[in-house]
Amino acid sequence: MKVGVIGLQGDVSEHIEATKRAMESLGVFGDVIWLRKPEQLESISAIIIPGGESTTISRLMQKTGLFEPVKKLIEDGLPVMGTCAGLIMLSKEVVGATPEQKFLEVLDVKVNRNAYGRQVDSFEAPVKLSFDDEPFTGVFIRAPRILKLLSDKVKPLAWLENRIVGVEQDNIIGLEFHPELTDDTRIHEYLLEKLL
Ligand code: GLN
Repeated sequence: MKVGVIGLQGDVSEHIEATKRAMESLGVFGDVIWLRKPEQLESISAIIIPGGESTTISRLMQKTGLFEPVKKLIEDGLPVMGTCAGLIMLSKEVVGATPEQKFLEVLDVKVNRNAYGRQVDSFEAPVKLSFDDEPFTGVFIRAPRILKLLSDKVKPLAWLENRIVGVEQDNIIGLEFHPELTDDTRIHEYLLEKLL
C-alpha cells in the first residue's frame, strides 16, 4: 500500500510518522509519501489531509494542480482522512470561510471553521470512538466544529461527551482533532484497514 499525506502546509511529518507506526502495528508493508504534485497520485492507495491552515492548504492544492484530481479520486472511492484543517477541506458546507476559499465538498457535514473562542482554542480531552471501547486522547487545536450532519450517509466516529467530533462517510474520515499528535495509532490503523 502507498499512503500519500498532502504535504503543502501543516503537520505533514507527524502524519507520515503516525501512518508508518500504524503500518508496523498492523504488520503491513507500505510506503508513506509526502504528496506535493499530481504525478505522485499514480498508484496511491489512500490520502491524508493534515491539520494546518485550511485557507493556505486550499490555495496551494489549487496552485499545484492537486485539487481537482484529489477530489475526483475521493469521489471515486479512494480512502481519505482529513484532520482539523483537513476536515474543513473535505466538508460540503463551511461557516467562516473566506469568499475565495474552495473546498473539496465530498463529506456531507457543515462545519464552523473557527468555532472555539480564544480561551479554549487548544485543549486535550478523552474522546469516545465508534469502533473501540478504550477512549482516545483528542488533541484539539483551534479546531473546527461539526455543526450538522447533512445526510444519513455520515456516521459518527468520535464523540466528545455528547458532541460528534469525528465522522465517517464510506471511504471518508473527518476529525476535528489531531490523532497524529498522540502515540495512539488506532485511528490511522482504522483508515489503513479500509485497504486490507
Ligand atoms: N482553524 C484552522 C483553519 O481554519 C484549522 C486549525 C488546525 O488545523 N489546527 O484552517
